[in-house]
Amino acid sequence: ASGYSLLRDPHHNKGLAFTEKERDSHYLLGLLPPAVVTQQLQEKKLMDNLRKYQVPLQKYMAMMELQERNERLFYKLLIDNVEELLPIVYTPTVGEACQKYGSIFRRPQGLYISLKEKGKVLDVLKNWPERNIQVIVVTDGERILGLGDLGCQGMGIPVGKLSLYTALGGVRPSACLPVTIDVGTNNEQLLKDEFYIGLRQRRATGQEYADLLHEFMSAVKQNYGEKVLIQFEDFANHNAFTLLAEYGTTHLVFNDDIQGTASVVLAGVVAALKLIGGTLADHKFLFLGAGEAGTGIAELIALEMSKQTEIPVEETRKKIWLVDSKGLIVNSRKESLQHFKKPWAHDHEPVKDLLGAVKAIKPTVLIGSSGVGRTFTKEIIETVASFNEKPLIMALSNPTSQSECTAEEAYTWSQGRAIFASGSPFDPFEYNGKVFVPGQANNAYIFPGFGLGLVISGAIRVHDDMLLAASEALAKQVSDENYNKGLIYPPFSNIRKISANIAANVAAKAYELGVATRLPRPANLVKYAESCMYSPVYRSYRMDRRHWCLTIPFSL
Ligand code: NAP
Ligand code: MN
Repeated sequence: ASGYSLLRDPHHNKGLAFTEKERDSHYLLGLLPPAVVTQQLQEKKLMDNLRKYQVPLQKYMAMMELQERNERLFYKLLIDNVEELLPIVYTPTVGEACQKYGSIFRRPQGLYISLKEKGKVLDVLKNWPERNIQVIVVTDGERILGLGDLGCQGMGIPVGKLSLYTALGGVRPSACLPVTIDVGTNNEQLLKDEFYIGLRQRRATGQEYADLLHEFMSAVKQNYGEKVLIQFEDFANHNAFTLLAEYGTTHLVFNDDIQGTASVVLAGVVAALKLIGGTLADHKFLFLGAGEAGTGIAELIALEMSKQTEIPVEETRKKIWLVDSKGLIVNSRKESLQHFKKPWAHDHEPVKDLLGAVKAIKPTVLIGSSGVGRTFTKEIIETVASFNEKPLIMALSNPTSQSECTAEEAYTWSQGRAIFASGSPFDPFEYNGKVFVPGQANNAYIFPGFGLGLVISGAIRVHDDMLLAASEALAKQVSDENYNKGLIYPPFSNIRKISANIAANVAAKAYELGVATRLPRPANLVKYAESCMYSPVYRSYRMDRRHWCLTIPFSL
């Protein structure tokens, strides 16, 4: 291998951080300017450069360029500056990147499986250079964030999610595989766009769609075995629930929009009990929005209530009410409801809007998951606050413009009594001399640690109890200091420690349920999880002219 190609290999390139000895032994002399710098100094320079960009999309492109040039440095930046860079490599900026993917696209960063590859999906998988895959994130691009159908350009999402798997959860980058399944798009603008990178046809549905997905799922199992995690991401709800149910019994599958959201929100609710009082079963929940997020959260809350009280889940569900675009979900609508809404059709007369539902149900917890902004009006928040000393209000819809209300509104309209968390971040807000820090119910708290837990235990199936285990571990990470500020989530700066704790709790559950294959079970799962986590620190290359031999300067 030549020094020139070493500099162009993102997995091994260190740029100016190659030492004199390495430069000498690896044919790099003259290919780099004389200065030798540390990874810390490279990091400082890149962060300085990044902060000069005004436009978030430019920061995103600079980060993608870095990932293609020097992978370890990319992860070093991401890990050390997680709070600053998360909104760049993931939501909200990644959304804009997907919308413009056609024109900013440089090098393919994952696998594209389109209807053209029907019958050849296994061959497609074999084209990927890495053999040892542990986590696949797959999308069909139909419901990208809150942005709708972006077709093949949805690829930004699996790429971004997997970089968080590595940065926050410590899964090796080479073990991550981003996949986009392209069955067409119904986005008229993209179909007309001369730069569109995907199949120029309307979405295939029905049998044609199911067949391609089935071929993909089978090929994955055939090629990588049973322990590879397949995370479904940003599928529209008419496919998401079906795919999860269909493959949940045969594959290791996880849907972050349904299950990850449920787990992170349950953790916030459980943590909030310290502030609002009572047990889970003492509370009454009302949701605006009954899709993947709403019904997913509702089901996990009902399940946890059922575990705590030994009351059957059919009964605990009755403490949870949902409103969709047609009003409160009630029994008289049951016939016409989508299957995932049916469990939530309780006995009540029809109520057509949220305000009516708030007055009729008198919830103690109000959760927004409709994707429609400005729906928690002054009147609604005042009404909820009128019958609760401390109402819990979660405005989950993303991006910020779609949030049901702002932090300021929640605190002001409840006279500083609300406990508030949101999907998109809000700045701290001062009300009557007290500073309130709104929590962010970000899925990135859960999925990296959850996936790591599955990987380190060699789990072959996901079980709802593992989602509960993840929630429990996250809720435990909230400190008294956090609570004093009104926070129901821990700060992101500790995310790797949080992920290790979540991974350990999930893995413990996998062993308990008998679906773990990594035997024997490590005695201390937190330590074991930490020891498995990828470190972005450079490795040093030994004096060996023939290979890029690695010596590992730190214990694994
Ligand atoms: P989804 O599956 O499309 O569900 C949307 C639901 O909202 C549907 O039940 C829909 O009603 C309902 N809805 C839409 N407009 C409404 C209106 N004007 N009034 C009342 N209900 C309305 O979407 P999703 O995946 O659940 O995502 C929903 C939102 O949650 C998105 O903004 C997403 O960004 C956010 N989210 C946040 C987090 C987080 O904070 N961690 C995680 C996941 C999702 P119909 O069924 O009647 O059409
Ligand atoms: Mn998603």
